[in-house]
Amino acid sequence: MATKAKFQAIRGTRDLLPPETALWNHVEQTVHEVFRTFGFGEIRPPIVETTELFSRAVGQESDVVQKEMYIFEDARGELWQARENVRNCFFRPHENSSVQVLRGFLGDFQSRLQAGLQSREVEHDAGQTQFYQYFSQGMEYFSKLTSNDPDLPLQIHGKVLEEIERMGAFLKNAIVGVRIGTFVALRPEATASVCRAYIEHNMQQLPQPVKLYYMGPMFRRERPQKGRYRQFYQIGAEVLGGTDAPAIDAEVIEMVMTFFDRLGLEGVELSINSIGHAADNCRRGYVETLRAELNKVKDKLGADSRRRIDTNALRVLDSKLEHEQPIIARLPKIADHLCDECASHYARVKKELDLRDVKYVENWRLVRGLDYYMRTTFEITARGLGSQNAVCGGGRYDGLVELLGGPPTKGIGFAIGEDRLILSLQEQTKAHSSSESSPLATSHSPRLYIAWMGQNAYAAAIRAARNLRAAGISVELPPAEQKFGKALERASKLNAKFALILGDNEVTSGEWALKTLADGTQQKLSESQLLDFLKRL
Ligand code: AMP
Repeated sequence: MATKAKFQAIRGTRDLLPPETALWNHVEQTVHEVFRTFGFGEIRPPIVETTELFSRAVGQESDVVQKEMYIFEDARGELWQARENVRNCFFRPHENSSVQVLRGFLGDFQSRLQAGLQSREVEHDAGQTQFYQYFSQGMEYFSKLTSNDPDLPLQIHGKVLEEIERMGAFLKNAIVGVRIGTFVALRPEATASVCRAYIEHNMQQLPQPVKLYYMGPMFRRERPQKGRYRQFYQIGAEVLGGTDAPAIDAEVIEMVMTFFDRLGLEGVELSINSIGHAADNCRRGYVETLRAELNKVKDKLGADSRRRIDTNALRVLDSKLEHEQPIIARLPKIADHLCDECASHYARVKKELDLRDVKYVENWRLVRGLDYYMRTTFEITARGLGSQNAVCGGGRYDGLVELLGGPPTKGIGFAIGEDRLILSLQEQTKAHSSSESSPLATSHSPRLYIAWMGQNAYAAAIRAARNLRAAGISVELPPAEQKFGKALERASKLNAKFALILGDNEVTSGEWALKTLADGTQQKLSESQLLDFLKRL
């Protein structure tokens, strides 16, 4: 029985391994090829950003920010350790030695913090400065209280002991609230980073719109299940600046659909909607009407939906609860409440999609909970994914760049879940019996295995391997001499197509033997003939 490895990938994360990684590479290569033809350039933002960027952009109220972000305090190691020492110190006010230990740790923390503040390595705002002053005063008082000669047992006069106990506990608690570094988060999505980069690099000075795409890992502490991971990968694109012409919305959607089409992804379904904009004569008005209707049927709704009536009524429309479906079906629809501009924008987006021959269904329940999302929203589902069948979500977010401190800027984008896209492609390959001939059944087996024996043969083998690899042929060159029988066995195990048999005799005669492993046939070729033969395949 296999023993359980001591170290395992942590829950919700996984290793992507060959041969599957070949499929990932194929998908990513296709992204580069397709997105380039639509005029997009690649951006690679960092994986960590300040927590504040995400809480602003993704929304303080969202599940992602409330529950799912991986956050840590990016502080200097020694300062962090000094604070841990205080925190972990077991304080017994009756024992002089314990009091002195705590005092020592507190003093160490205080001096390191002071140095950090002075060098500006520890960022601080007015609140923190004031907090730090209280802390210093507390420290001063605590020092006075405990400055008895450490060699003598502590003079315990009830009053002093009480004060030591109170101050020690106070300071121990207080340090938890001292900020010693910046809170940073592993990115849960990348739109915020792209907008931050747009502002930071003054991209509004470039010809507008700026079209950027990205791919890479995202992190959300969700409950793992099929198609849902804590580290997952997204492929996304954003169009920032310029106009909000409906043709832009349609072209962005066309690009995703072209990409899926190029991959041969089957069973793709595009849903679209318009959620108007945050104004009384548009979405805000609709939400009020919706809320009023929801309150009438409140008793029939589940706990989540009941709570959302007040916090985020639009999200009730997302509900998957069976018994709520007929109730939701009778609710007022946003399309009947859009302002004239938003209604006309939506009509033109649909027309632009028709012009591009992009098929869609309208889904009035497709909503987004944040204020800056507006007008076009879309979602794409694929087959073989069970309940987590959304492979892409996107929409317009004209207020986001401004919310992050930039100029008013139009924006639209999407994110594709790469893990789910790959899962769907794999399910599809499984479903077709002709998996062998599928363009996605990429293999990393070597084309040629070089079975060499003898030092002259070895030199020739190295040379041949170099030439063939330069021509793009994958070659396995065993690192040590093997008997030909053993070598051929290994070549078959590795699934090589050919084996080159190269002994000193072959080198002397210049006649090399090439074996086709599938049928065992063998041919004799010169070195240059061999190269030509393999290169031509
Ligand atoms: P979102 O950024 O939430 O709009 O998600 C966009 C796409 O990313 C979704 O349609 C999914 O395909 C994918 N996705 C989101 N969260 C996860 C996750 N935890 N695991 C795998 N894929 C995810």
